[in-house]
Amino acid sequence: MGPELEDAALRVMRSGRVLLGPELCAFEDAWAAAVGAHSAVGVGNGLDALSLGLRALGVGPGDEVLVPSHTFIATWLAVVHVGAVPVPVDVRTANADWDPEALAAAVTSRTRAVVPVHLYGHPVDLAPVLQVARAHDLVVLDDAAQAHGARLGDRPVGGLTHATAWSFYPGKNLGALGDGGAVTTPDPTTAERLRSLRNYGSTEKYRHDEVGYNSRLDEVQAALLSVKLRRLDEHNARRAAAARRYDEGLAGLDQLVLPERSAGTSPVWHLYVVRTPHRARLREHLAARGVETLVHYPVPPHRQRAFADTPMAGLHLPMADRLATEVLSLPMGPTLGPDDQDVVIDAVRSFRA
Ligand SMILES: *Cc1c(COP(=O)(O)O)cnc(C)c1O
Repeated sequence: MGPELEDAALRVMRSGRVLLGPELCAFEDAWAAAVGAHSAVGVGNGLDALSLGLRALGVGPGDEVLVPSHTFIATWLAVVHVGAVPVPVDVRTANADWDPEALAAAVTSRTRAVVPVHLYGHPVDLAPVLQVARAHDLVVLDDAAQAHGARLGDRPVGGLTHATAWSFYPGKNLGALGDGGAVTTPDPTTAERLRSLRNYGSTEKYRHDEVGYNSRLDEVQAALLSVKLRRLDEHNARRAAAARRYDEGLAGLDQLVLPERSAGTSPVWHLYVVRTPHRARLREHLAARGVETLVHYPVPPHRQRAFADTPMAGLHLPMADRLATEVLSLPMGPTLGPDDQDVVIDAVRSFRA
C-alpha cells in the first residue's frame, strides 16, 4: 500500500488543512457505512474513544460500569477517567465473553453501563448483554479495539449497541501510522455529543457548552485510514485463513487449548491465542526455533499496581488469574505466509511438556 499511502499523506500536507477537515469527514462516513452505524466520530485514540463514549452516554462520577475481568487495561482506565467505578465480571473464556447470569448478578442500584470487549477479534454475543441492559436500564458501549470487521450473524460489530469504541493503533486490524480512534453509534444525538466532547465541548468556535477534551483524529491519519480500509476485508480474510490453518495443524495436541469459536460469529483474528499450563517452557521452545510469541496479557487489570489502593485489588477473579498464566499469542497477521506458519506449527508439535 506504500504508494497509495504516500499519495494520501502528501495530498493532505499540500492541502494545508490538517485537522477537522474533508479527510476526516470522508473516513467517518466510510467507517460508519462499513460497520452499519449511523455515524462515526474520529477521536485521538482508543482509550479516548472509550472514555468519550462513556461520557456521551451519560456515565459519570459514582456510576458503576461492568467490565470483563480479562481485557487490555484501557477498558478499565476509561471507566476511571470519567469518574466511574469499574466492576469486573469474571469471564467464561479467553475471548472475554460472560455467562449472562454472572453479568446480571453483578448489577446493583448504582450500575449505569456495561462494556463488553470483543477480545482478540472474537465478537461477544451481544443479545444477552443487551437483554440484561434493557432489564436494568443500562447503556452498552462495546470495546471493539480488536474487532474491526467482525460480525455477529450477518451484522457487523459497530452499530449494535448504544455506541462502539474503536482504536486505530498501528498494530490493530485497521491501524493508522500513529494514534487514532473512533466511536460509532446508531444514535445521531450521541454522535453530536461526541463531536462536541472531542473538540473542547464546543460546536461553535469559542462557545463551550460543556467541559470537553481535545481528542481528534487528524487529517493525515484519516486519509491513511481511508486507504487501508479498502483492504480491511482482504486482510481479515487472510487472517481467517491463517487461523483455519493453525486450527488444523495444531489439532489434537495434549494440554494445548485452541481458540474457541462461537457459533454464528465471524471473528477477525486480531490475535490467535492458545492456552497451555506449560506456557513458559513452550515459549522458550518456540523462541529457540525462531518463533516469537507474545502474552496478551500477563497481569490482569485487578493485579496492576495502578489499582493497588482500590477495592479492585482485593477481588476474587479466578478465570482472569488463570488466563494470565496460560494464554499465549502465536504469530498472526495478514502477511503471515503458509511457510512461516508451518515453521510455527512444526515447532509447537515438537514440544514435549
Ligand atoms: C488497543 C486497545 C485499546 C486502546 O486503544 P489505544 O488506541 O491504544 O488507546 C482499548 N481496548 C482494547 C481491547 C485494546 O486492544
